Amino acid sequence: MPQKTMRDMSRKKVRPANAIPAGMLPPRSVIGILGSGQLGKMLAQAASRLGFRTHVYGDDAGPAFDVAGAHSIGSYTNFARLDEFADAVDVVTYEFENVPVQAAEHLATRVRVRPGAKALAIAQDRIVEKNFIRGLGIPVAPYAAIETPETLMAAQRTAQSWATPAILKTARLGYDGKGQAPIGHDGELATAYRALGSVPSVLEQRVAFRAEISVLVVRGVDGALATYDVPRNEHGGGILRRSTVPSGLPQDIEAKARSIACQIAAALDYVGVLGVELFYLGPDAAEPLLVNEIAPRVHNSGHWTMDACNVGQFENHIRAVAGWPLGSTNRHSDAVMANLIGHDADHWPALAREPGACLHLYGKREARDGRKMGHVNTLSPKSS
Ligand code: AMP
Repeated sequence: MPQKTMRDMSRKKVRPANAIPAGMLPPRSVIGILGSGQLGKMLAQAASRLGFRTHVYGDDAGPAFDVAGAHSIGSYTNFARLDEFADAVDVVTYEFENVPVQAAEHLATRVRVRPGAKALAIAQDRIVEKNFIRGLGIPVAPYAAIETPETLMAAQRTAQSWATPAILKTARLGYDGKGQAPIGHDGELATAYRALGSVPSVLEQRVAFRAEISVLVVRGVDGALATYDVPRNEHGGGILRRSTVPSGLPQDIEAKARSIACQIAAALDYVGVLGVELFYLGPDAAEPLLVNEIAPRVHNSGHWTMDACNVGQFENHIRAVAGWPLGSTNRHSDAVMANLIGHDADHWPALAREPGACLHLYGKREARDGRKMGHVNTLSPKSS
């Protein structure tokens, strides 16, 4: 082949250095974040590192306002205010799952919203969520939906067939153990249901789990999937206290958990980081893994990834919503993430002195009981 022709061919393949691949938001684009809490703050920090600007929209001023380039206060049902926000950003994401679905749907008429409204609609209602997960053939704890007061008796009859006690959970707006009541014996159900406001609820069998784990899965715009190593989670009073990696669980169980999370993310046509919480019942259980719930956002049990992985969950969420390729989820260290709840954070001077402790404080003004004020990631050399 004559030399000139070869040169022409190779020239055709070379992309100019400044060309932006289709679908990727370039640096300086504005990532819109719904929600002003600590997750929004850490998303904004990760976005900033990649050269993006951020605009946070919240119904009150939270820690994310301290770091975002722009912020708006407005209710999530103020469509005029949401329109202004939509016009100021290039893509919208959210940091909490109780953003009204109508807000996400409305924004989606003007700007891309990732993850989409479908994930919100499913995660906001425990009845819809459990039906959805079970519909995918993924095991969940036995449950009975109480959609109206008339269905209470039927749920009670179902619970009578269970070997262990139950938990009543409101279908909507429950988090960190709120909106839940333990049900020890039959007579308690009607009282607990009334105490929770006689609202649609799920009566769930209390399962004797060996461990609680979660999977942080990230899915790109192109459908690429990546998972982080599986943390073992410990709760106290319904609030996550600590996440540990490696979990110490059998590898095949972790692999199964990861594949369940990927299946859910794909079924939702999800973009971003999704948290999937599971119960591990032990190797002899008929179903060793049950999905407890999903969180369509970055997740507290993934905070260790900020310091123990090549690319943490916050950056990977931003990469996904910006249409970028996913970053490596490789874990280079063992890690224990401890939440600083309420006045735990008052010990920051001692924590700041601890070698190997990576301290994250959210800068909230007031420490209240049960309030997440920060977290500490303690790293050690990778054992497995
Ligand atoms: P949730 O709000 O559903 O994540 O529940 C908060 C915590 O309550 C979980 O992390 C578990 O520690 C506990 N819990 C929830 N559901 C069950 C269940 N069906 N069986 C046993 N423990 C549960």
